[in-house]
Amino acid sequence: MDLDLHDYAACLFDLDGTLWTGSGLYDGACDLMRALTAAETRCVIVSNNSVLTGERARAALARHGLGGDPLAVTVTDVAGEYIRKVVGNGTARVRVAGVAALTEACRAAGLRTMGLREPGRADVLLLGLHDSFTYGSLERLAVCVEQGERLVVTNEDPWHPGPNGTKVPETGALLAALLTVYPCDYLTVGKPGPLLFDRALALAGVGASEAVMIGDSLSTDVAGARSVGIDAIWISFGRPLPEHPDGEPTAVCGSLSELALAFETRDRASVQL
Ligand SMILES: [Mg+2]
Repeated sequence: MDLDLHDYAACLFDLDGTLWTGSGLYDGACDLMRALTAAETRCVIVSNNSVLTGERARAALARHGLGGDPLAVTVTDVAGEYIRKVVGNGTARVRVAGVAALTEACRAAGLRTMGLREPGRADVLLLGLHDSFTYGSLERLAVCVEQGERLVVTNEDPWHPGPNGTKVPETGALLAALLTVYPCDYLTVGKPGPLLFDRALALAGVGASEAVMIGDSLSTDVAGARSVGIDAIWISFGRPLPEHPDGEPTAVCGSLSELALAFETRDRASVQL
């Protein structure tokens, strides 16, 4: 099966490991975004990044010359909305173990927030990526869960690709540490869940059948998109497609450069399973 990006009104992009290496843009990102924008295809970044809001991600990408001015929504933007739905009201107290932007986003959603060290009991314990994570914070997280705070994680990604092929630990790594100490149930805000995809489709103003997701993760980008009826292109970066992938991509492409070339030349053959 092959596909043609010209058939879609909107392209949804993963951020870390697809557009962004951790220190710069992947080859082909600018060319593809420029070509899609020229063709009036709506572009939306859909990211499990729990450090940046969509607006901050857009600004950072623009500073690095991405162009095209894509819209963006991250798990930081929607965490408050998710918690309001889960808890069923807007008066929940949320203990945030994450960066300040995550706390600000929860407050913007009308939730009351408290810090990890703050005494008392919260309704929800929200865990996101933060580089101030220590042995002491792990100890505190376990106490909070033990006293009945409902654990919600922004995302379960164990790592994302960094510069020069390094692995950058993600929220899933912090979650794994906590679960090792205190095994418990938890809920997940971001991809592969439907909320971020719903928000991205609303931003683009299109239905699921009019959009295609482009990402490097089979388990979050591809599986999540396909579960809500969005086609998905897996950017393989030369990796073989597993025999039984977590998510079955609609098409596979080696890199954004190849995808840009295929779009500009309408070469369906270069984008195929
Ligand atoms: Mg990724």
